[in-house]
Order: sequence, then C-alpha cells, then structure tokens
Amino acid sequence: MNETTCSQVLIKDCISKDRPRLSFEIFPPKEWAKIEDTKKVAKALSCYAPSFISVTYGAGGGTSDYTFALTQQIVEKYHVPALAHLTCVGSDKEKVEAALNEMQSRGIKNILALRGDIPANSDFSFSKDFRHADELMRFIKEKGDFCIGGACYPEGHPESASTEADIESLKRKIDAGADFLTTQMFFDNNIFYTFRMRMLGKGMDIPVLPGIMPIVNAKSIKRICAVNGTPLPPRFKAIVDRFGDDPKAMKQAGIAYATEQIIDLFANGVNHIHLYTMNRPEVAGAIINNLSGILA
Ligand code: FAD
Repeated sequence: MNETTCSQVLIKDCISKDRPRLSFEIFPPKEWAKIEDTKKVAKALSCYAPSFISVTYGAGGGTSDYTFALTQQIVEKYHVPALAHLTCVGSDKEKVEAALNEMQSRGIKNILALRGDIPANSDFSFSKDFRHADELMRFIKEKGDFCIGGACYPEGHPESASTEADIESLKRKIDAGADFLTTQMFFDNNIFYTFRMRMLGKGMDIPVLPGIMPIVNAKSIKRICAVNGTPLPPRFKAIVDRFGDDPKAMKQAGIAYATEQIIDLFANGVNHIHLYTMNRPEVAGAIINNLSGILA
C-alpha cells in the first residue's frame, strides 16, 4: 500500500471479514530519546503486513506524548494503516479538541476512544466534560469524520457491577457511534465466545476484534492480570508454574499458547485478531511463522 492509499484507510474497512488476518498493538516510549527504538519496532512489525497497527496512549509503559507522531510515521513511512488510541480521563473538551486538531493535521483518521484507567491518587476527580468513553466518542463524532473504535471486556470491566451493566455500557458506545470494538486480553476463548453470543443476543452486531496477548514473561503476567482483572485459566497457570523461572521455556510456551488460542478463534469463524505485541516483533514474528499456512 502506498502512503496516499494507506492514509485514506479506515479501520472499519480493513477489518478482515473473509480470511484470517492479524493487526498489532504497540506502545510509544516514555522518553523521546527512545523513539528511534520504537520506530524500529513499528518497522519490523510492518514487514509482517498487518492489516493495521494501533498505538496506545499512556498505557503499557509508554507516554501519550508520542502516540500521534508514531501513528503518522506508521502510515507515512511504513505504509500500514494505523489507529491512534486516545483517553479522556482527567481531560476536558479543550484538551481533547486540541488532540483531535493535532490528529487531523497529521492525517490521522482512526481513533480508539477510551476513558482510561482512573489514577490511583485519592484526590483524582473526573473532569466536568468526560466520565465515560461514550461521551468522548460523541464529542469526536461532532468534531470530525473519524473512524472510531472502543474497548470491550469479555470477562467484564473490573469496575462493572454486573455483566448486564457492562453490556449496557457497550450499547452506549455503539449508540455513540463506535464502528468496531477491540477486546481486553483473555486467555480462555470460551469466555470470548460467550461474550459475543451475549452481544449478538442484544442485537449488537458490530465487528469485535479479539485481543490476544502472548505472555512470554512470568513476571509480567501477575501485574497484567491484577490491573485488568483477567483471570488465568488453570491450563495457563500450569504453564507459568512449570516454566515461569526459565525465560527461554516460558517464552516458547507463551508463544505456543497464544498461537493455539488464535488458531481456535480462526477455526471458530473469527477472521481478525488484534495482537498485543508488547513491542516485541520477534514474538509476533514467531506467532506469524506458526500461522504461515493459515495466514497465507
Ligand atoms: P468506559 O467505557 O467509560 O467504561 C469504564 C467503566 O464504566 C466500565 O465499568 C463501564 O461498564 C462503566 N460505564 C461506561 N459507561 C458508563 C455510563 N455511561 N454510566 C455508568 N457506567 C458506565 N488505557 C490507556 O490509558 N491507554 C490506552 O491506550 C488503552 N488502550 C486500551 C485498548 C484496549 C483494546 C482496551 C480493552 C483497553 C485499553 N486501555 C487503555 C484501558 C482502558 O482505558 C481501561 O480499561 C479503562 O478502565 C476503561 O476504559 P473504557 O474506554 O472501556 O471506559
């Protein structure tokens, strides 16, 4: 894809409907000095011809400052469609409008609109303008012609009182104009299948991209599960218990587990999966290699 074609691509149009495809998530660095390293990550991932790459906003260890520059770079230099994340927690309309203006000036058309996690400090209070992602989505819709995605949680969002409340929140996102959803990571595909059925039962039929995170490091798993409230199924826990202290073995087992999850999703009719790469192109590459016949 060349730069002009690529910059016009809306994520809703490149979500695969007919054959297995992957997209990737990366996070920007904390300091500008490390931006070249992150660009190398993006470049290496682009070589696998993902349908798009998404760039987080102040999540996964990176800052929000370089999200838009990196998103623009992916489109212009590596010719891959890109999606910029944007959060609104603690932000007001003025700040969000400035972010949208910057995105427009950089040619960014795709936004994953999120609330963001509530900061741990006890003096935090919501801004008068945004409490939830659906409000951000409505504001973005008013301000420009963006393709908008949202987050969803097959296991339920940690703050949600019930599955029913969570589904209601999703309905609000769809009513606010979400074009597609990407899931929080999960390690048990049955949870995703049940969630999808529940959505369809409520008439919510927009594309949902399952988010798969290959866990290749035992230390990170406890932190990630604690933050996201994602439970570890016994089968995966056994892997961590057995191989957690052996980095090489853990990496191999984590890649194999993610590969199996992806194959099962494809086998059950899912065509598009979003891979949380944690900025590790070699891990994404190993998975793609395992799927070479399936993705061909
Ligand atoms: P919301 O949709 O606002 O939901 C938050 C909670 O409020 C939920 O419990 C929901 O059920 C409830 N709720 C929603 N609307 C209402 C309402 N109107 N009334 C009452 N309750 C309501 N975080 C980052 O900081 N940067 C990132 O780049 C980032 N990327 C992510 C990508 C994906 C795919 C996912 C799944 C998450 C990502 N996150 C990121 C984390 C996300 O910001 C947190 O999970 C956050 O806690 C919730 O964000 P949300 O957009 O789902 O919020």
